[in-house]
Amino acid sequence: MIERYSRQILFEGIGEEGQRRLLASRAIVIGCGALGTAQAEALARAGVGKLRLVDRDFVEESNLQRQTMFTERDALERMPKAIACARHIGEINSQIKVEAEVADVNQSNVERLIQGCDVVLDGTDNFGTRYLINDACVKHDVNWIYGAAVGSYGVTMTILPHRTPCLRCVFPETPQAGTAPTCDTSGVIMPIISIVAAAQVSEALKLLTESTGNLHGSLMQFDVWQNVWRSIKLGAPSEDCPTCSRGEYETLHAEAGDFAAVLCGRDAVQIAPARATRLDFESLAGKLRAAGEVKVNQYLLRFRAGDYELTVFPDARSIIRGTSDVGLARSLYAKFIGA
Ligand SMILES: [Zn+2]
Repeated sequence: MIERYSRQILFEGIGEEGQRRLLASRAIVIGCGALGTAQAEALARAGVGKLRLVDRDFVEESNLQRQTMFTERDALERMPKAIACARHIGEINSQIKVEAEVADVNQSNVERLIQGCDVVLDGTDNFGTRYLINDACVKHDVNWIYGAAVGSYGVTMTILPHRTPCLRCVFPETPQAGTAPTCDTSGVIMPIISIVAAAQVSEALKLLTESTGNLHGSLMQFDVWQNVWRSIKLGAPSEDCPTCSRGEYETLHAEAGDFAAVLCGRDAVQIAPARATRLDFESLAGKLRAAGEVKVNQYLLRFRAGDYELTVFPDARSIIRGTSDVGLARSLYAKFIGA
């Protein structure tokens, strides 16, 4: 162990004691896409003793430009990302324990998944899942590290329940469906992934080695194309935050989930946002044209993405044809409509 981690042990912020703590820690990476695989690889190399990896998607060719852990073979075999990630990590560091779970993270499993973890790393691609992680982590007092990247822009912050602001303190409302850019409509370049993941992993290492005095305590924002590096200092949790102040964890209750998803027919799923909204079809169509074929009239917008067809209504309700898998439909909705 001394040789393998020698350069990290030499680093005075970690040392032998810090290394022992890392080896005795358990981290969970939720979402094994670009951010999540970068986080998982760094944590594995650093010797975090137990890693739990969760993702519901399969590797696709269009992932390879930025999801640096995956290979052409993973895409060809359409490997589940959590499994492919665990397999590669096994080759990188066979001395740590890796658990992979192919699952859609939702209110039915999030509390179980974070149980026993010392830190949660956000590798997800949508706000719905992040609010769910936030509620579960604040409720169970588990530290978590928010991170997001789209285009050339990225953002991260570290949440220590009841000590720092939570995600809802900083962003009280989910962005309205269809308004936020996503990687599938606006693209993304790899360097911003590396930066956000590196910032998240640095915070994880500080937390796991109990160097909490070195945490950045900020909402950090980066734009590698516009050359912006900004850090906004965060204070105490908000007194108006329902999660922090009143212990209301609305996303953990099934009836208040972000989406009502129902099977409709043999090969279609309907997704409806919980919050009423009016979509701007013109701007949504503009974004989606970069990703596939779009047809739009005043009543509905129809978008074809590979084997799937999304029919979107003005209230942001959507019927996704080509699958009867609710988790997959939620994932397509998050990718293309964005919420
Ligand atoms: Zn809060």
